[in-house]
Amino acid sequence: MHCHEPSATGVACVKQGYLELAQTSHQIGPVAYHDYHGIVVDRGEQKSLVEDLGDKKILFLKNHGVFTAGESVSSARCLMYQLLKATEIQSHASACALGNEDNLVLPAADTVEKTFDVVQHKQFSGAPYGVKELSVYMRWLDKMDPSYRL
Ligand SMILES: [Zn+2]
Repeated sequence: MHCHEPSATGVACVKQGYLELAQTSHQIGPVAYHDYHGIVVDRGEQKSLVEDLGDKKILFLKNHGVFTAGESVSSARCLMYQLLKATEIQSHASACALGNEDNLVLPAADTVEKTFDVVQHKQFSGAPYGVKELSVYMRWLDKMDPSYRL
């Protein structure tokens, strides 16, 4: 999935990049970055996008937006949802820190890794990551306005 949501694009535009501050960000794991080369019209950029993504599932496109990948549409969608929440939290935390990164509380790396492992590899919800969440989201959409299915 790809989007230009302001919170995520804002993080893609700052030198400090993405910070694993709150539990929401710990659940979705490490991220990668891709430098901005203007609007993508060159198919040759596909190769560098894939290389920059590497073994990660989240790619920040500097000065552009974000991209998530997954084993299924549901896992990519769930990653995007949590990524947008995590970047909103980062934006709020950065504002509360008054622009001073020293005011941010960064958790220990092993704590972050433990949370990621439980959520992504131990089927925390009893199903592969994102599957239950997508069905809830689809029921919510159907209830709100089922016309998208036409
Ligand atoms: Zn784009």
